[in-house]
Amino acid sequence: MTYTDDRIAAEAGLTDRVALLQNAMHKLGADVIRLQTQLTDLASAPAQRTEEEPPAATPFIFNLSRDAYRGELSALVAWVDDFLVPVYVGPDPGWCPVWWEHHEAVGRLHALRLAYQELTDTAAAGGSGPGRWHRDHLDPTLDRLRAPGGPFAACLSPAGHRIERRQSRFA
Ligand SMILES: [Zn+2]
Repeated sequence: MTYTDDRIAAEAGLTDRVALLQNAMHKLGADVIRLQTQLTDLASAPAQRTEEEPPAATPFIFNLSRDAYRGELSALVAWVDDFLVPVYVGPDPGWCPVWWEHHEAVGRLHALRLAYQELTDTAAAGGSGPGRWHRDHLDPTLDRLRAPGGPFAACLSPAGHRIERRQSRFA
C-alpha cells in the first residue's frame, strides 16, 4: 500500500465519521426541539391534583359564606326541582313549591344531597350505598318535610305558602 492509498483510505474514513457526526447533531437538534415543546406544554398546563389527594368535601350549606351560599342554593334548587321532586315527590299538595324559603327545608335537603353524592358513588360507598340513601336519608327527609308539624304545614292553607316563625314566637 502506497502513501497515497493510505491517505485516500484515511480520508474516506474521515468522511464517514463526519457524516455520522452530522446525523447525530441533527438528531440532537430534533431532540432539543421536542423537549422545548414538552416544557412549554408543561408550563402552560393547569396544575393537576395528585392521585393521593382526595377531592375536598362540600361544606354544609349553613357553613358557607353569603356568596357561596347563593351558589350552593341555586345548585340545590336545580337538583331538587329537576331530579328529586319529579322522581320522588310528584304532584304533592303537601310539598311547598317555594321550599327554599323555608330554612329547615334548605338544611334538610342540602344534607340529603350531600348524602346522595356520597352514597350513590358505589365505588366508595359499596353496592348497598344507594339503598342506604333511600332508607336512612330520603324517606325520613320527605316524611319530616311533609309531616303535619313540618315546615310546609302552614303552606297548605288556602292562602298558600307561609313561613312560620316558630322559634321567635315561643322563645
Ligand atoms: Zn312554603
